[in-house]
Amino acid sequence: MDFSALELTTDQLAFEQEVRDLIEAHWTPNRAHIALDHDRAPEALRLAMAERGFVHPKLAAEVGGAGLGEVEEEIITALFNEYYAPNNVSSELLIPTLERFGSDFLKTTVLPRIRTGECTTCLGYSEPDNGSDIAAAKTKAVQDGDEWVINGSKMWTTWGNESDYVFLLARTGPIEQKHRTLTMFLVPMDAPGVEATAVWILGGGRTNVTYYTDVRISDDYRIGGINEGWSVMSEPLATEHGAGIVTEGVTPVNGSMGAGFSRVLDKLIDGAVEWAASRTSADGRSRLEDPLVRMALAEALLDLEVCWNAEGELGKPMSAEVLMNQADRLADMAAPEGILDFGVDGSIAAGIIASERQHAPGTAVYGGTTEIYRNNIARSLGLPRPY
Ligand SMILES: Cc1cc2nc3c(=O)[nH]c(=O)nc-3n(C[C@H](O)[C@H](O)[C@H](O)COP(=O)(O)OP(=O)(O)OC[C@H]3O[C@@H](n4cnc5c(N)ncnc54)[C@H](O)[C@@H]3O)c2cc1C
Repeated sequence: MDFSALELTTDQLAFEQEVRDLIEAHWTPNRAHIALDHDRAPEALRLAMAERGFVHPKLAAEVGGAGLGEVEEEIITALFNEYYAPNNVSSELLIPTLERFGSDFLKTTVLPRIRTGECTTCLGYSEPDNGSDIAAAKTKAVQDGDEWVINGSKMWTTWGNESDYVFLLARTGPIEQKHRTLTMFLVPMDAPGVEATAVWILGGGRTNVTYYTDVRISDDYRIGGINEGWSVMSEPLATEHGAGIVTEGVTPVNGSMGAGFSRVLDKLIDGAVEWAASRTSADGRSRLEDPLVRMALAEALLDLEVCWNAEGELGKPMSAEVLMNQADRLADMAAPEGILDFGVDGSIAAGIIASERQHAPGTAVYGGTTEIYRNNIARSLGLPRPY
């Protein structure tokens, strides 16, 4: 890894200021807003980003991006992080899939607005009875002339309450044929019969159960062939899992979903430093000078460095497990005041240590559990499955 500092060019500095102004115009920094890896930017901020092509900044300007490079993309991410502003508005996972498999209707009417970020998407894979085993989906789509009628429910549809479309996995044939009777759709969330109800996550943030009751959509919303859903969804799924992601140039992050967890760990460490700086030991010295505290903080920083460098499929499970472990260790260190919830008298660092300790275990579940990742990694390496 290249540890040298990056010198921004004059243009990049001007770009940084532009993004800073944009965030400041639409967002008040809120340190208690810790579900950074999970919450979505507020609509006004997203639309202001979309207008400038900053939602998918590396796409060419002609197709809704801004034709920018990795440095600029990283500037956007770093600034959202600095302002404690959640982002998570990208549909990057789905754009290549829609380009490849989308109907002409989707390509001409919906995809352009997804590319700009004007339209948002969410993922409808998991169901109440199946998560890891996605191919056991029961939500049914039955063809009726030029339309499909969808019935079923999806569990954990994150952003289902604030998305325009759900990328929905549906059963279009006998369930016994498992992978061979699945079809993908892009279902408008405002279609009659679609409903999202809240599921609140420990430590802050929301996901949803989404229900589909006699939802009628035109065949134009089908993505790829009938019963070919498994191959349609395999690319976005693999990308979400970090397959093929290689960090290039400036991005000192592992490039997977784990990068978001690492940014949260970074904030958590800041919270622990803030706790240590605000406390004194029995000998009257700052806790920051306590060798045990210093060692704990140094270990957390080293763990963070490891996470930044864990590439591809390693990124997510490594970052999730480190975040869980460090959230526990730093909470033990900073207790009792460090684990007071935000708003409680005496709480510090906007309660980040308390809330992250509750939130962190979920990171080992969403986007696929760490056990499933370990199995996949073992398979890639030709090793026996650990689970
Ligand atoms: C906060 C949150 C947000 C989420 N957001 C979304 C979303 O936006 N869209 C979406 O579709 N889903 C989403 N999910 C669902 C998530 O992907 C699933 O919860 C996850 O894949 C696990 O599925 P499950 O909950 O059904 O658990 P199960 O699959 O029942 O797993 C239970 C336990 O068994 C283990 N296990 C299961 N199968 C195996 C196996 N073959 N080998 C070894 N161990 C195994 C698992 O590792 C786990 O420990 C979200 C989940 C959470 C908690």
